[in-house]
Amino acid sequence: MNPLEQRLSYAFGDALPAPGETMEVAPGVRWIRMALPFALDHINLWLLRDSFGGRDGWTVVDCCISRDEARAQWERVFDTQLQGLPIVRVIVTHMHPDHIGLAWWLCERWDAPLWISATDFNAARVASQSTTGFGGAAAAEFFASHGLTDPDSVEKIRARANYYPSMVPHVPARFRRLMDGERVAIGGRAWRCIGGHGHAPEHISLACEEMGVLISGDMLLPRISTNVSVYDVEPESNPLQLFLASIDRFRSLPEDTLVLPSHGKPFRGLHERVRQLHDHHDDRLRDVMEACTQAPRSAADILPVLFKRELDLHQTTFAMGESVAHLHALWYEGRLTRARGEDGVWRFYSAEGRDSSQAGGATSDRQK
Ligand SMILES: [Zn+2]
Repeated sequence: MNPLEQRLSYAFGDALPAPGETMEVAPGVRWIRMALPFALDHINLWLLRDSFGGRDGWTVVDCCISRDEARAQWERVFDTQLQGLPIVRVIVTHMHPDHIGLAWWLCERWDAPLWISATDFNAARVASQSTTGFGGAAAAEFFASHGLTDPDSVEKIRARANYYPSMVPHVPARFRRLMDGERVAIGGRAWRCIGGHGHAPEHISLACEEMGVLISGDMLLPRISTNVSVYDVEPESNPLQLFLASIDRFRSLPEDTLVLPSHGKPFRGLHERVRQLHDHHDDRLRDVMEACTQAPRSAADILPVLFKRELDLHQTTFAMGESVAHLHALWYEGRLTRARGEDGVWRFYSAEGRDSSQAGGATSDRQK
């Protein structure tokens, strides 16, 4: 456990639900943990006892990626954990593959509707039918414009055009829209939707104040910081500012709320964790600012400042998105200016007391 984690309290210690089994974490709320074939090797999914559309059963929150191993694990859950009841509704917190991948299959198999934010529904539909955001030519070009120019990496990113559809082959054709502030009745209790930005386009967390439970999705994780990236489809976004403003919304919930995150273990210490994430990003922004005050830097130049460990290509693409996000936060604040060099690479430099001729050429582009 790292020192920051020690300031949180894990509600169930090291207990984890076994594959294909569930663990009750609050009345009528059961935890499923499924394996993922990535460095982040698992995802938490939730089963909520419900009565919906005239049927007694279970509402599922999040689905895992579309692959045989996940379906087999779901089948074991269906056989042994549902008390003979059906899945009556599928809620998805956001469009990332580990959350929405199997929604099409769950909805079809149980004739259950998909509930999700409109933005993430549409983003998932687009991403599952095209090459966007996670690989392919547009991503390679975007990363190259931020300094990731070595031909081997560019070629591998270009070749990874099928990345999202390989884990999300289909998205249901219809959905029911979830919106920030809406109260959804699940199992006779009100769950409040809390919209969040900066990680996914329109992430929905669900808070049940009556039970003191928050299904935080990826917006609040106990051990790792949520990925906050700029993607090629929205190359001028400022996701870090959006993310930090979004997690502040959780402060309206009590500190002893039981937080059910998508990765890691259920914990208490919500306000402490929000503070930790602010501190973490403030530290990184300070390091980035310092580096850009010494000389103009591209996002690729900043990677060793932000990430002290060796990164493989997959991690490098995520890290590049994060690096651009940190530069953009400072750029939108007016603390950095950027200029595009003759090599086509964006470099960012301190806006204070620096003559733009030091920026390596071309036109400078002040945000404010
Ligand atoms: Zn996510």
